[in-house]
Amino acid sequence: MAGAGAVAASCIFCDIARKSTSTALLHADDKVVAFQDINPSAFRHYLVIPVEHIPTVKHLHRKAEDYSLVSHMLDVGKMLLLRDAPQAKHHRFGFHQPPLNSVDHLHLHCLALPYTPRWRCMKYMSLGSLGFIEADKLLEKIKPAIAVP
Ligand SMILES: [Zn+2]
Ligand SMILES: [Zn+2]
Repeated sequence: MAGAGAVAASCIFCDIARKSTSTALLHADDKVVAFQDINPSAFRHYLVIPVEHIPTVKHLHRKAEDYSLVSHMLDVGKMLLLRDAPQAKHHRFGFHQPPLNSVDHLHLHCLALPYTPRWRCMKYMSLGSLGFIEADKLLEKIKPAIAVP
């Protein structure tokens, strides 16, 4: 069980969150940071990651702490795309589920469409319990029984 402030031995996203890389941060607070995807799949393609090392969506649970973290990640992603891509046709937010995730540090993909090039949409197809899961769907899954204020 990873405690608060836990970091993985060599995780590029932990390094980014600790600001020990040259990656330009679009947003940073004590819970999350956001930056551009190094290999963008869309007109705008940002990643929002928790500062704490959480490997994948499988490590999130139905509890208030995880629910509010993911809600916050989504809020930050929405805010950034509204700021930087208000004219985009569609904004999409979601996660790759293991084993199809690239980096083992939870990251929310924030996509302002269109995809570039267009075939990149393949990477973000929902395939039931595999593939890409929309942020709203994930929030439904981890929503605690007791309402979060
Ligand atoms: Zn990490
Ligand atoms: Zn990913």
